[in-house]
Amino acid sequence: MRRPILLLLSSFVLAGAAGQSIAPALLAPDARYKADVLLIVAHPDDDVLVGGYLARLTLDQHKRIAVIYCTNGDGGGNVVGNEAGAALGQMRMLEARRALSGLGIENVWFLTGHDTPGQNVLRSLDHWNHGLALDEVVRLVRITRPEVILTWLPDHVVGENHEDHQASGVLATEAFDAAGDPTWFPEQVSPSRDRLGMSNLTEGLLPWQPKKLYYFSDAFENFSPYWHSTAELSPFRKNMLDGAGPSYSTTDPSPSRHISYAHLEAVQQVAYQTQEAETGEKALKSGNLSDFEYPVRLIFGKSVVGGSPTGDVFEGVTDRPAGFVRVRGYEPQPQAEITFEIGDPWRFYSLFWKAHNLDHLASLIPVPEVSAQPGDQLSIALLACNRQQQAANISVTAALPAGWADKTGFTAYPMRAGECYPILAQIQVAAQVRAGWQQLSWTAAAGTNPVGTVTLRVYVGESGGLPQ
Ligand SMILES: [Zn+2]
Repeated sequence: MRRPILLLLSSFVLAGAAGQSIAPALLAPDARYKADVLLIVAHPDDDVLVGGYLARLTLDQHKRIAVIYCTNGDGGGNVVGNEAGAALGQMRMLEARRALSGLGIENVWFLTGHDTPGQNVLRSLDHWNHGLALDEVVRLVRITRPEVILTWLPDHVVGENHEDHQASGVLATEAFDAAGDPTWFPEQVSPSRDRLGMSNLTEGLLPWQPKKLYYFSDAFENFSPYWHSTAELSPFRKNMLDGAGPSYSTTDPSPSRHISYAHLEAVQQVAYQTQEAETGEKALKSGNLSDFEYPVRLIFGKSVVGGSPTGDVFEGVTDRPAGFVRVRGYEPQPQAEITFEIGDPWRFYSLFWKAHNLDHLASLIPVPEVSAQPGDQLSIALLACNRQQQAANISVTAALPAGWADKTGFTAYPMRAGECYPILAQIQVAAQVRAGWQQLSWTAAAGTNPVGTVTLRVYVGESGGLPQ
């Protein structure tokens, strides 16, 4: 007797829902991977330089941190074993995971770039397959949905100035601007056809616009902007970090751990046994943490949510997602018919900063600079362009400090109409020269008409400085 009633009921329900069969609610993006800060660096151990700040964020402000290493550090040396190359890379990935696990950071990814020693960012980008690496970084930005991206400064600075560091900063900047744009790597943001099925060939992510971008730099050693005052760097430039962004002390004690952030950074360093663990071990053994007590000084990149450049990193950041903000992109500028300028990587950066609305980075180091050792041979790229309708010749003259030698081999360069001539200046640094800054310049002329002058500052040190 009950069956007819049930049938009647179900008929009623179906009739009531006719045309309104409601699909299940969508799933939210996987919360396990959400990050407040995404750190994008080049090598295992790059995290240590900002480790004191990472510790403050994760242990005491309860921020979620994710990390991308663009390489596994396979190009470095090994202070504890014979393993090198790919084998060393495998070990360094585990060292990085151990270093970060001490801070409770588990979401760690390694891209497929190889460690490329040198100082020309464009070499690293080429070596890493720039497009492939950017695809991977944008994917991870869309997975981690960071409020803030923290990365190496994309600039050529006197300091360690590793080209891989700079390249990670270039990729991070490009990803900051691309991840919210659905036309960049559209396969990543196309819905999966059936998430429970197989062979989904699109990824089902959502576009994501990070809110703030900050940089840091390893411009230290003898010419350290961390240790040296403006007066010591003069007359050539101010400390580029002064007023450039917020600064975080590492001598403060962690309220949750009851030791200083510098102490936590030393512990982080000890995980890198194949690299410079000894510095951390010595500091922990002696209790002298001075090697880790430098403040973490950041350089403001940009924000889509306001806030002042020197304010706290999270100033202006709320839970509400930011809408996509388009950057300017490359815009050709009107130029003289014949021009003479410094070449790559400096020329690339001058275009890159403008294209990504980072014009202010050009003022951090207003005059290009490199480091060198006494007796080094520097190779500096220059570029002459002829936009005239007819051919032109330019002559280039170098003005060098006493005892330095011009080994370039040519002094005049022919250009057909519309051509740019890439010139590679070769300069021999004097064998006997005091440590400090020197300045050199090249002046170009077309016939008797001056075309332009390029100035370069060279820090001649007793150590540091990879070959150009
Ligand atoms: Zn590094």
